[in-house]
Amino acid sequence: MGANRHMSVDSRGRYTPEAMGEVMPGSEGPAGSRSHNLISPRRASLMQEPVLVLNATYEPINVTAVRRAMVLMLKGVAQAEEMHNTEVHSAAHAHKVPSVIRLLAYRHIPQQSRALSRKNILLRDRNTCQFCVRVFPSSELTLDHVVPRSRGGRSTWENLVACCYRCNNNKGDRTPEEAGLKLARKPRPFTLHTSRQLMRLIGHRDERWRKYLFY
Ligand SMILES: [Zn+2]
Repeated sequence: MGANRHMSVDSRGRYTPEAMGEVMPGSEGPAGSRSHNLISPRRASLMQEPVLVLNATYEPINVTAVRRAMVLMLKGVAQAEEMHNTEVHSAAHAHKVPSVIRLLAYRHIPQQSRALSRKNILLRDRNTCQFCVRVFPSSELTLDHVVPRSRGGRSTWENLVACCYRCNNNKGDRTPEEAGLKLARKPRPFTLHTSRQLMRLIGHRDERWRKYLFY
């Protein structure tokens, strides 16, 4: 699957936060709606709050940010199932902030095809630097190629891990062994099971998610 489509790399070869915000694995065309500009930047942090995404059948399939969820709602792709008691304002309208949305058309999500994206790797690694084992906000994490690309390391689930900038700089173009670093755990592809667990983890503060995730 097109890993590159989900990633952006800055001039220093690091993955950048722009790759955040992808919703469905491979389901949105490249002409996605990331450029929609609906909401004033004042509510930027609220717009990053997690929203649970349900399939048309109410099966939880993903987590996205409020901003992206509202774009899907405005496009008529999804509708809100649960709302926060807050509103955000665009030029002409007030919009209730969604907590859970549901896709109006059923999407077939193949079990093993979670998109290889920065977002999903940070989710898998629970925003924990895999070398110093500290938890960071997404903006303070990059992706590290365990075997560096310069040494033939590839961009795969098994060779990419969440990494803080300090450890990333420290490791440089070396393997973990060469740099005297140890991986917190062996990187593996995302499974539906980890996915569900992670949704619960992300949603633990939001009671509205519970009935969809059965916990
Ligand atoms: Zn670190």
